[in-house]
Amino acid sequence: MRKIVIAGNWKMNKTVAESVKLAGEVVAAAKDIKQVVVAIAPTYLALAKVAEVLQGSNVKLAAQDVHWENQGAFTGKVSADMLKEIGVDYVIIGHSEQRSYFGETDETVNKKVRKVLSLAMKPIICIGETLAERKEGRLESVLTRQVNGAYAGLSADEALSTVIAYEPVWAIGTGVTASDDEAQEAHAFVRGLLAKLYGDSVAQSISIQYGGSMKPENAAGLLAQKDIDGGLIGGAALKADSFLGIVRPGEGLSK
Ligand code: PEP
Repeated sequence: MRKIVIAGNWKMNKTVAESVKLAGEVVAAAKDIKQVVVAIAPTYLALAKVAEVLQGSNVKLAAQDVHWENQGAFTGKVSADMLKEIGVDYVIIGHSEQRSYFGETDETVNKKVRKVLSLAMKPIICIGETLAERKEGRLESVLTRQVNGAYAGLSADEALSTVIAYEPVWAIGTGVTASDDEAQEAHAFVRGLLAKLYGDSVAQSISIQYGGSMKPENAAGLLAQKDIDGGLIGGAALKADSFLGIVRPGEGLSK
């Protein structure tokens, strides 16, 4: 059985004070959530304060990125043990904004994934095609390259601690969502890639989130799909009520 994991990626939004306030609202609103794993990813700057707010709650702490080295001359970067010390559970890796603006590659994704796993945190590995890639019929080759790259050298046990976020780039922050069928088709393909790498039983145990303009209005339809096991939420995670409007339809679903 797979967990439904719904994570809010706050990106470069909210000051520390605003993050603490929103985290408190999410904790209060998520009190009765029993089955869905709920996580929030504030900026690095707000992680320590938000960690205090989440203590004793059922909301998990996530970071938006990490560097793969332990320490040293890497100006602007944050290491995995720094995140671990604060109590981070999940780390988003390979987000399309990282890939398109900040030079993230399949190789750096793999290094970050390995580092995060070595400290017993869970990577949320983001993959997804651009509109041009989809139109050119390259959806499957892009997803294959990204999945094989991210999981290179990982054992089946390590793979079981990962989460994938399938995020069609053309749906991120655009208000355009993949249809339930389009999303399901891509998720089934990604699960097939995991099955080729690790066998069916491992592939059936890894949660695959959908991301891309997910909101309360479309959450139930997407989450009802056989291979969609949660969501990575940008814009709609910046308000507790809309975020929980996505979480609630996941309660009671079994995957
Ligand atoms: C994201 O950035 O991961 C995302 C899915 O954003 P949005 O929900 O705003 O499309």
